[in-house]
Amino acid sequence: MILLASRNAHKLEEVRAILLPLIPGLDSIEGAPPELPEPVEDGRTFAENAVIKARQVAEATGRPAIADDSGLCVDIMGGAPGIFSARWSGQHGNDAGNLDLLLAQLSDVKPEHRGARFVCAAALAMPDGTVVVEEGQMVGTLRYERAGEGGFGYDPIFQSEGSSLTNAQLSASEKNAISHRNKAFAKLAPHVAAILGR
Ligand code: IMP
Repeated sequence: MILLASRNAHKLEEVRAILLPLIPGLDSIEGAPPELPEPVEDGRTFAENAVIKARQVAEATGRPAIADDSGLCVDIMGGAPGIFSARWSGQHGNDAGNLDLLLAQLSDVKPEHRGARFVCAAALAMPDGTVVVEEGQMVGTLRYERAGEGGFGYDPIFQSEGSSLTNAQLSASEKNAISHRNKAFAKLAPHVAAILGR
């Protein structure tokens, strides 16, 4: 059994769906103990923040722990919102406010300059302090208006390369198949298998 350093039930399901089929014999992935305090995510990169979260759980529980950190990086904004994606409008987790602010900031930006990517860092931490981090990206462009009801965060304005739909117009399984999170955890899977001896 390994632990996922997140209290988000949706994320737990998504990570289970990615990792369990890739690691035969991994019996379960469980959420972090609810009594643990929220870690201070004061890293400068997605990778540093993913490691902070995984390390906290591994040290507190004595079990291997995995964690991720992700966000949207807009080319013309030099990679912002980046690690500030969840609180871009000043209030953590205000998805609608974050998206409205980004749309306003990009309102005069031409279609050919609206490149962006979702980035996810996935970390594995061991109780002895060993860590491994892998990264996945989903490259695309940003629309001028929202389209679609699915997904979360910036999904309604993000159109991945080669698609004519926004992420919010894809089914959960269609988006998960091409997502930055899927790619990062798929790269992490062999490391998890190795520490489990499988
Ligand atoms: P976290 O890694 O769950 O903390 O996500 C950070 C923030 O990045 C979220 O609040 C979203 O704003 C954004 N984000 C990360 N992944 C996605 C995605 O797949 N779709 C849309 N927004 C995302």
